[in-house]
Amino acid sequence: MNPQLQNAATTASTVSRMNVDDKRLINCQAVDVNQLCPIKYHWAWEHYLNGCMNHWMPTEVPMQRDIEQWRSGVFTDDERLVVMRNLGFFATGESLVGNNLVLAIFRHVTNPEVRQYLLRQAFEEAIHTHTFQYICESLSLDQREVFNMYREVDSIAGKDEFVMSLTADILDPDFHTRSVQNIQRFLHNLIGFYVIMEGIFFYSGFVMILSFHRRNQLTGIGEQFQYILRDESIHMNFGIDLINGIKAENPSAWTDQFQREVIEMIDTAVGFELQYAQDCLPNGVLGLNAELFDAYVKYIADRRLERIGLPRRYHTRNPFPWMSETIDLAKEKNFFETRVTEYRSSSALQW
Ligand code: MN
Ligand code: FE
Repeated sequence: MNPQLQNAATTASTVSRMNVDDKRLINCQAVDVNQLCPIKYHWAWEHYLNGCMNHWMPTEVPMQRDIEQWRSGVFTDDERLVVMRNLGFFATGESLVGNNLVLAIFRHVTNPEVRQYLLRQAFEEAIHTHTFQYICESLSLDQREVFNMYREVDSIAGKDEFVMSLTADILDPDFHTRSVQNIQRFLHNLIGFYVIMEGIFFYSGFVMILSFHRRNQLTGIGEQFQYILRDESIHMNFGIDLINGIKAENPSAWTDQFQREVIEMIDTAVGFELQYAQDCLPNGVLGLNAELFDAYVKYIADRRLERIGLPRRYHTRNPFPWMSETIDLAKEKNFFETRVTEYRSSSALQW
């Protein structure tokens, strides 16, 4: 029976009590997808709880100073280009991630606690897309220009076509994960989105905007990016746990040949990202230039390779050490304490 629908056809006479050990990340036949408890994958539940603690909305961030700065003419054409191309990548990138989650990944994950996190993540991707709509509206940017860059700017189109092909690969309604080859296709998708899109492509985008924020420029957008960065670091960590979990449960899929394909895929992605950096920073601004991004993207790619059990490849040094501090700061629960606390206490609804 189709594993996603298995329980729909289960009748009372065939019901047996769930054994938590029978839970599986993919291809679970023995347990239905509606029984969250008892939880087997505590990491998934932890990521879910952490995501819920971080709830925020872009419209809570005041944009008045950004609007004044953007209109004041303090930014050079090169600086405007970085900002615009950055927004142009994220504006549709967040939707690509959300669509892949809902249309491609969700269906094939047969575990309720992992699905619980996927539902949370899907909502966060909607919030992130909302952020770019809100930024465009606040700064009176041309929405068609920003939201159409993924078709019009070659380096953005290249990255997006690369990940969209991974979605298309498993969108086929007949796709299943019951063969080794298809488990590898599914892992390709997960690595493409969680490790490459959210784990590599997004991080160079964060550096661009947060470097303005460090100079006290575009601080509203910078604050929104800090929130997004905090969410994305959980998305990536969840994705890596999921990838490593599927590897552990399906060791026959993690062949030497497949590992070489993954390394090649990450290498291709690094190439796309370098082209994007050149498109965003043809002349360099603000202590940012394409050469620094070359080192950064490779540094990040090495970290991600290690997390999925592959050897480092590039051995560059982090040219933006302040990013590690920003990421560490974002992990601290009290970083955005005021808002987090407001959400915790907002359960007292008045009707
Ligand atoms: Mn996102
Ligand atoms: Fe994400």
